[in-house]
Amino acid sequence: MIQITALPAFSDNYIWLLQDPARQRCAAVDPGDSAPVLAWLAAHPDWLLTDILVTHHHQDHTGGVLELKARTGARVLGPALEAIPGRDVALEDDQRIDVLGLEWQVLHVPGHTAGHVALFTEGAGQPVLLCGDTLFAAGCGRLFEGTAAQMHASLQRLASLPGPTRVYCTHEYTLANLRFALAVEPDNQALQQRQREAAALRERNLPTLPSTLSLELATNPFLRANEPAVRKSCAEHAGSAPTTAETAFAALRAWKDNFR
Ligand SMILES: [Zn+2]
Repeated sequence: MIQITALPAFSDNYIWLLQDPARQRCAAVDPGDSAPVLAWLAAHPDWLLTDILVTHHHQDHTGGVLELKARTGARVLGPALEAIPGRDVALEDDQRIDVLGLEWQVLHVPGHTAGHVALFTEGAGQPVLLCGDTLFAAGCGRLFEGTAAQMHASLQRLASLPGPTRVYCTHEYTLANLRFALAVEPDNQALQQRQREAAALRERNLPTLPSTLSLELATNPFLRANEPAVRKSCAEHAGSAPTTAETAFAALRAWKDNFR
């Protein structure tokens, strides 16, 4: 059994700290800054940081890796297709790795970056997905290095994981994403409910994460490109009706890129 804690970093990043309380070992996910992790370790002197997991090469996910590795000797695991500082283990699609005594599956999910990976385990009591900047709560990452078709395929792959899977993405973008989602699907009641709950959490400065995959399937427009209401909104916004889920996804992504 592991516990997972959000360590806030920068203005809206979360560094997820995976903790094995039985052995007092932990792993940090996407430490863009070493300071929050070092502060946690200083407050928990009996704990050992054994692993640093990196989903993609962006600075706000890797900036703290080398210092954490130098201070703790932790092993660095990151995508094989990207340059990751201090990497010890190059992660390939479908590879199985052991972190904190759990088996994790590596999923190559290109779109935000070309080599982006997500990590999935069913061994943590409840299934857990670490998805970096690919799937967000009620949104998805921008297409910096990939195509809409690639991102759509990557999201579909994540969407096929079990519904109860807890979704740990790396940014607190939920309220802004929900504002867009409601512009796409104003009549979606699950979405309206989610907006109220997320706003209440943010008012108390609490994370809206993790999400669950079943909640994303009910409320995230980027996983709902096949829904008639989503198609209709895309058609109204773009002026022509998308003919496939992939073109609907591309229209949504382009719409969101310019949404204020
Ligand atoms: Zn990124």
